[in-house]
Amino acid sequence: MRPARALIDLAALRHNYRLARRLHGGRALAVVKANAYGHGAVRCAQALAQEADGFAVAFLEEALELRAAGLQHPILLLEGVFSMAELGEVMRHGLWIVVHHEAQIEMLERAAPTAAVNVWLKINSGMNRAGFLPAAATHAWERLRATGKVADITLMTHFARADEPQVITTAEQVARFDAATARLPGARSLANSGGILGWPAARRDWARPGILLYGADPMPEQHHGLEPVMTLESAVMAVREIAAGEPLGYGGRFVAERPTRVGLVAMGYADGYPRAVPDGTPVAIDEEPARIIGRVSMDMLTVDLTGLPDAGIGSRVELWGRRVPVNRVAQAAGTIAYELLCNVKRVRLSYSD
Ligand SMILES: *Cc1c(COP(=O)(O)O)cnc(C)c1O
Repeated sequence: MRPARALIDLAALRHNYRLARRLHGGRALAVVKANAYGHGAVRCAQALAQEADGFAVAFLEEALELRAAGLQHPILLLEGVFSMAELGEVMRHGLWIVVHHEAQIEMLERAAPTAAVNVWLKINSGMNRAGFLPAAATHAWERLRATGKVADITLMTHFARADEPQVITTAEQVARFDAATARLPGARSLANSGGILGWPAARRDWARPGILLYGADPMPEQHHGLEPVMTLESAVMAVREIAAGEPLGYGGRFVAERPTRVGLVAMGYADGYPRAVPDGTPVAIDEEPARIIGRVSMDMLTVDLTGLPDAGIGSRVELWGRRVPVNRVAQAAGTIAYELLCNVKRVRLSYSD
């Protein structure tokens, strides 16, 4: 069997959830959208089932997958519903919904009166992506109440730059949100991972940790004690020597400056490893630091074994995990850990408790 796999450490996931909940105070919805950022939504939710106050996903189908697996917790749809039919499903399955736009209020107004739904009313406090403008918050809240189909209304907002401790934007968003909602009752939810870790003023009734659950710290320079959950690994499947001056791989991007021992690794961009990484991107081989040389191809990539005489066929290669932070690979690829983790595919997911 091809040795490429993603090892998922569920104890680390629980550690990270507890850390977030303790730091934030109040309750925390574990964000498991996008198949738990590539880690497997059902398995991750089951691993957190004893302690999670609830879960958040992007849309209905993601929530139904958790319900089908027997999870009875509150599950919030972060994008809310897309149609009246979905609203019916939401009520049937006892899901919670974000309402971020007029059309979603209209759906609630038109819906047949059935079980009342818990709504999270999203205020646009400065990200300008989704949500009601601060000036429209009270009117939206009153319209929701008037439908008679809404149980609790939680007030929420989302940060654009919570992972940048040196910029003032997040503090401004908090102030704008507080001003807009000062006269409205109900619980509050402001903080994503960056908000939980970096902005005490954003810690309220409900946290919404996502990326931090998976151990990829959005502010890695601050060392919050998160544990990486995923180890993406494979093995060396062939070794060859190339002479000084010889090219390696597609495009001949890497050219050996000296005789080089090249390890061929069963991992490529079809598995979700980013093609964009340059020569020199870190990996760990049998726990030792090493580097990628040559372009990443669809099913394979190549590493420099010159300084690792004991490494050879069968040597374990960590692409990211405890030795190689996924944030470092993301930086090398010009992207963020979120994207790398969500993109993992084709490899087996192996779980350990
Ligand atoms: C995805 C998402 C989160 C989680 O964000 P992280 O940065 O991964 O912690 C929280 N809230 C909303 C509205 C989201 O869409």
